[in-house]
Amino acid sequence: MNILVLNCGSSSLKYQLIDSETENVLAIGLCERIGIDGRLKHEPTGKDKFVSEAPLPDHTVAVQAVIDALLDADHGVIKSMTEINAVGHRVVHGGEFFSSSVIITDEVKDAIDKCAELAPLHNPANLIGINACEKLMPGVPQVAVFDTAFHQTMPEKAYLYAIPYKYYEKYKIRKYGFHGTSHKYVSRVCASMMDTPIEELKIITCHLGNGGSICAVRNGVSVDTSMGFTPLDGIAMGTRSGSIDPAVVLYLMQKENLSPAEMDTILNKESGVLGISGVSSDFRDIESAGNEGNERAAIALDTFSYRVAKTIGEYVSTMKGVDAIVFTAGLGENGAITRQVICDYLRYLGIHLDSYKNCIRGKAVEITTKQSRVQVFVIPTNEELVIARDTKELVFK
Ligand code: AMP
Repeated sequence: MNILVLNCGSSSLKYQLIDSETENVLAIGLCERIGIDGRLKHEPTGKDKFVSEAPLPDHTVAVQAVIDALLDADHGVIKSMTEINAVGHRVVHGGEFFSSSVIITDEVKDAIDKCAELAPLHNPANLIGINACEKLMPGVPQVAVFDTAFHQTMPEKAYLYAIPYKYYEKYKIRKYGFHGTSHKYVSRVCASMMDTPIEELKIITCHLGNGGSICAVRNGVSVDTSMGFTPLDGIAMGTRSGSIDPAVVLYLMQKENLSPAEMDTILNKESGVLGISGVSSDFRDIESAGNEGNERAAIALDTFSYRVAKTIGEYVSTMKGVDAIVFTAGLGENGAITRQVICDYLRYLGIHLDSYKNCIRGKAVEITTKQSRVQVFVIPTNEELVIARDTKELVFK
């Protein structure tokens, strides 16, 4: 059974075709600049890459281009549409409606639409992708896998903000958390690497990419996470500020005469390590600038690592201990120096990094020595595989 995994953004669409029995990726690709001009990059496993510049005026045309690429005589990987047995969609916001993945029905689409207010950039694009698939692949079951679902197990004390309760009732303002698919996946891989049932473990998972979040996973469920009502909260990120005193927002808006949209751009696109360093949002650029003596780049990196370590410390106290810490995503998987700096802050936990293992790349590995009281792992995330697995379970069980 082949599952098409789709991640639709407002002008992009990432896809993978996965054989759900072997879990092999048959093809991977990306449609970019949808609605602008259009570009499709298609990488079939074992065959040459293919790039098309054909126009992609909307998501329906983009999904059709993906199907055409998968079926193509030269660079295709299937012979007929009947070889796409189900579609799994990444959906960013499931609000309080969804605590697990679901088969898509009209009611599910209505609920995703209701959550669009909470994720205006993402949920509408996800819905467009779902509608395009319904049109082009009628009768093929579709599943929604939500970024927020894994965190629906958080207790009230973790998800409520200390503002008048009526705003939670009226507007559902609360912490939701994101990157749930990734936190769930790496916590499970971690438990299996520790050869211990996840129900017996306290794990802190650090998804550190361009966006970043940290999650406290106790007995297999999320009990707290650093992103909040939106992905802006928590640790400092590539371009996002993370948590700041809310009064700073009001003060700056008054001082600089900023509109809500302008303030939103500052907090989401001009802050984080880019904002502090003035160099880049990419940690590789900031590391090199820091090494070349750029003081603000060095401060940006230290601020980032400090805040990650501080959040980990918070979760050690909320879970009353920790058995393992996991690093994942672009920086978490590749940034050996940043991992080292973060773990230096955590020496009080009895963490001892193995500097040789800390430099291994591209595979799941424990990076602490045998003496370390807390095990630390680097585990490459695989959100597409989780989406394919959930889709398989819901559609073919
Ligand atoms: P992601 O959002 O998971 O794709 O992660 C993207 C981020 O990972 C980039 O912005 C980089 O800052 C970071 N990254 C990727 N490779 C490296 C590396 N070798 N060293 C440090 N940071 C990296």
